[in-house]
Amino acid sequence: MFVDIAKIKIKAGNGGNGAVSFRREKYVAAGGPDGGDGGRGGNIVFQVDDNLSTLADFRYKRKYTAQNGSNGAGGRKSGKRGEDLIIRVPRGTIIREVESGAVMADLSDDTPFIAAKGGRGGWGNPHFATPTRQVPRFAKDGTPGEEWEVQLELKLLADVGLLGFPNVGKSTLISVVSEAKPIIANYHFTTLTPVLGVVSMGEGNSFVMADIPGLIEGAGEGVGLGHEFLRHVDRCRLLVHILDAAGSEGRDPIEDFNVINRELAVFDPALAERPQIVVANKIDLADDAQVARLRSYFEERGYEFLTMCAPIAEGTDAVVRAVWNRLQTLPPIKRYESEAIPVALFEKQSDRGFTITERDGVYFVEAEWLLKILQRADLEDYESLQYFQRVLVSSGIIDALKEKGIREGDTVSIYDLEFDYRN
Ligand code: GDP
Ligand code: MG
Repeated sequence: MFVDIAKIKIKAGNGGNGAVSFRREKYVAAGGPDGGDGGRGGNIVFQVDDNLSTLADFRYKRKYTAQNGSNGAGGRKSGKRGEDLIIRVPRGTIIREVESGAVMADLSDDTPFIAAKGGRGGWGNPHFATPTRQVPRFAKDGTPGEEWEVQLELKLLADVGLLGFPNVGKSTLISVVSEAKPIIANYHFTTLTPVLGVVSMGEGNSFVMADIPGLIEGAGEGVGLGHEFLRHVDRCRLLVHILDAAGSEGRDPIEDFNVINRELAVFDPALAERPQIVVANKIDLADDAQVARLRSYFEERGYEFLTMCAPIAEGTDAVVRAVWNRLQTLPPIKRYESEAIPVALFEKQSDRGFTITERDGVYFVEAEWLLKILQRADLEDYESLQYFQRVLVSSGIIDALKEKGIREGDTVSIYDLEFDYRN
């Protein structure tokens, strides 16, 4: 079975905790604080791997967790950093955050994508030493690693997609014009996974052709095989619609053409607008009148129309050239822009409980939902900062701090954010 969509959970490593420790030297009663910082948690990183062509690996393994950072230790020893977990995916995989549906990344090039950031290590107690607090008996815990449920969706990167009913000769064409070696047989649905072939034009020029499994009637409404494959023509810049010129299976090629275009329109109207070149195959089995009828039908409707006999490569060079020429006039392969995951998502969805602990004038605020906002919000950005301040007020955190007796100049510590309290 061809797997091109999968839902998984990813969890970056937690940051290690900072240590509380004091130097012990001979003849020195109480040395200075020397607790080390915790190590950073490992990230979850996605990386394209061209040896993969499906998302089958994700069918059974659903949860991916990166290593936690180690805790700090005495003698200012920092904790070890957690190792990143690298998840390999086929080229063209789109990663979406499930809750919001936002596109996190389009893994089409070789740049690794950090989908979940490891938590930061907590500070050791030397960080909290001040002239008035020379013996800080507390350190900070590391922050949890980011955690997401994501949907992986494979959308092949091909310039050209072949359309056509089963058995019209799509696999034969791709095997003749590229190095791809799909199964060619005289029965329906021999192509169960898309096959990509690179068609070389010489002088370093080439394009990628995708042989997509045969569409069947009703595919656009999700009936039977087909629907899941329609997704793969989504990025194609050009579609080559192949017909059985002889109608050798008893169907009318013009009717075939219209059925498939209706399916495309049902699945995605934009897809039905994608430029198409029409190629009548099996002309060895067709008579001149049949070919002439097709030619006039399609040319009247403004389609470029070609004929071929794919197994003996008759007419296939002309098809390749027509495709190449047309590609020169078309926009590049579609890339998906990453979208911001709306921060409000976390505020809305969780109960807004929190805890506040005070130690020597430092007020530690903890709340899981707030952490998510912090991880997403860019606090360098004025609007995000304003938003964050509003959240502190609306959630009751500021009131609770006042109740605990916070004074001007005391420190508020929210995970790795620290600021002085001002009324
Ligand atoms: P697909 O299902 O569209 O990929 O079709 P295939 O490429 O697998 O071809 C289906 C059958 O038609 C195979 O038995 C091919 O050998 C045969 N075939 C393909 N092209 C031609 C052609 O131009 N003429 C004839 N006579 N048979 C062809
Ligand atoms: Mg085939």
